[in-house]
Amino acid sequence: MPSVELSTDVALGVAIPSRNARGRIARLATTVDTILAAHEYPAVIERLLAEALTLTALLGALLKEPQGQLTLQAQTEGGIIDLMVCDYLGGELRGYVRHDPERLAGAPAEPTLKDLFGTGYLAITFDQPLAKERYQGIVPLEGRNLGEAAQSYFAQSEQIPSLVRLAAEKRDGHWFAGGLLLQHLPEGEEGRERLHTRLDHPDWPHVAILGGSIKAEELTDPELPLDDLVWRLFHEEEELRTLAAIPLSRGCRCDPDYVRSVIARFPADEREAMVGDDGLIRVDCAFCSSSFPIEPKELS
Ligand SMILES: [Zn+2]
Repeated sequence: MPSVELSTDVALGVAIPSRNARGRIARLATTVDTILAAHEYPAVIERLLAEALTLTALLGALLKEPQGQLTLQAQTEGGIIDLMVCDYLGGELRGYVRHDPERLAGAPAEPTLKDLFGTGYLAITFDQPLAKERYQGIVPLEGRNLGEAAQSYFAQSEQIPSLVRLAAEKRDGHWFAGGLLLQHLPEGEEGRERLHTRLDHPDWPHVAILGGSIKAEELTDPELPLDDLVWRLFHEEEELRTLAAIPLSRGCRCDPDYVRSVIARFPADEREAMVGDDGLIRVDCAFCSSSFPIEPKELS
């Protein structure tokens, strides 16, 4: 079996059995660069979306079903950003942000989540169709960054001690992003008593300190294979396992036929109003910015 390149556009599972810890590490290069290139966002928004996509990859890589879907959607009130959506399906990622450029221009250079989202929540939806499992968690968008918000969500709402680190950096005109998610999951993971609600279990602080020593430049360095990075952090552990790697890529599921069928359902007078100067109705995909020109005659 050909080995998967473990440097970029990949998520790797990690387990430290003797410490009851497991997690995922991911790095995005072409994937995130292609997604961002489809939009013209200011750097602050690019970085935010790059980190959100990395979080999406880390959480998506936790899904047990290959066709499971994970969606992050920010619900905000009074913020510079009024919508952010990212999703993951079978290793494919996509995402976009809707924001007010004028208000962003007046924001601090390193805005907090509150600056960006106002009173905001991130809805995380895990969807596993085969098992008919659908689960949604709500993360308050508070703290300095998305990693912090996700980490406190796991600790407080899920009662799972967790470490989340996200980083994104533009190098030579291209975006690179990386992230690490570690969780303490002793016995009780599958419905038995949750022993890990004790946040003072000695194994966890040890793992959290080692994992927390990861540097942003290590997460984003495209030359540093993820298995080497994991080894660098945890080589002194009794046992360190890496699980099957999941290749990541940009993927959009927009479909011209679907777009046409949606437009066809509008009343004729509303469709008329959508026709542009060139005589066509143009619908753009919010995720990938693809444009779908529709001939009005085709609809009637
Ligand atoms: Zn699309």
